[in-house]
Amino acid sequence: MERIYLDGVSSKPIDPRVLAFAKQFLEQGYGNPSSLHSVGLEAKRVLENARTKVTKLINAESDRTIIFTSCSTEANNLAIKGTALRNIGKGKEAVASAIEHISVLNPMKELQKNGFSLRVIPVDSMGIVDCKKLDEALTKQTTVTSIMYANNEIGTIEPIREISAIVHDKGLYLHVDATAAAGHIPIDVQADGIDLLTLSSNDLYGPQGAGALYVKPGIKLQPVLLGGGQERGLRAGTENIFAIAGMGEAARIAKDEMAHETERLKEMRDKLIEEILTIEESYLTGHPTQRLPHHASFRFNHIEGESILLNMDMYNMQVSTGSACSSKTLEPSHVLLAIGLKHEEAHGSMVLTLGRSNKMEEIPTIVKAVKETVERLRRLSPLSQKGVI
Ligand code: PMP
Repeated sequence: MERIYLDGVSSKPIDPRVLAFAKQFLEQGYGNPSSLHSVGLEAKRVLENARTKVTKLINAESDRTIIFTSCSTEANNLAIKGTALRNIGKGKEAVASAIEHISVLNPMKELQKNGFSLRVIPVDSMGIVDCKKLDEALTKQTTVTSIMYANNEIGTIEPIREISAIVHDKGLYLHVDATAAAGHIPIDVQADGIDLLTLSSNDLYGPQGAGALYVKPGIKLQPVLLGGGQERGLRAGTENIFAIAGMGEAARIAKDEMAHETERLKEMRDKLIEEILTIEESYLTGHPTQRLPHHASFRFNHIEGESILLNMDMYNMQVSTGSACSSKTLEPSHVLLAIGLKHEEAHGSMVLTLGRSNKMEEIPTIVKAVKETVERLRRLSPLSQKGVI
């Protein structure tokens, strides 16, 4: 059976064009961009070229706004701890939506241990942040507010411009985790009113091992990693030139191809959703229209997401359930609970993400595998026999 990979939300294959571009820096990559000799200067040139490409993807003011990190998790930690600790004199309040990724929520919980209060903003049943509650939660003492651009588990795109207007009205800064959104929908940090923005290389079809934090000019951060003065002193450590060069090229390709690819994926996504929802007691999770173009997420009564994932793997189709980062815990996803699902409902989730390698002709094969999987698991399910859900 030929592989049909549908789990780009957990990890995307590196685009062959990105690999072809970046592998030269792995093969010859002994230069350290901080060295003043010619080999170091060449590495520095590669680094700055990647910075320019990332700058363009999000229409940032200048290359200086981009700080390379090792991944999104690190960028989120730098944004949250960095702003909270740098502005501790102004207050000790943090605000985040209930559906943020754990790499946002966990640094915020860490701040709580250091005397910060954390206000968690609810979302509606489709995953849209409650803007009224956000407005009420923000005070002069709020030093960090984090709302994601789009959610990785349910695909919902947040009204970021409305959110940034609320945050800026109070004279505060907004951090946005755009890991799931970047490269799929246009992001313009200036027009959107974003102060700090997290990006990941792999989510752009770049190599794993690079991420970036956009820091709007004038925003002050306290570094989390201390050492040499790399990345304007905000992220010490020798840069991963291969991964960063790849991230830059991945950003360039994503920007160039976004409009066309979005239309292609949307058409496939809508067909997939339409067909899968013909299965009895199946439901779409997340917003039906305000959602990422490649993202289709569902829940099925009477069965478990882990069994769906393993059964689909037997068809050589890789899907995810809840968040790959926390799925080992077997706890129901905090995102699905936040949109109002009961524990037993949240356990039956499946996320399909379409990517560059997928084609419309695959949709019937995917739908058939999902239908057979759901039927088989329901036949075996003690949940369905006991009428639990
Ligand atoms: N934020 C979001 C929205 C994510 O989906 C992920 C995981 N892909 C992360 C942050 C963390 O990414 P990483 O594990 O690559 O650091």
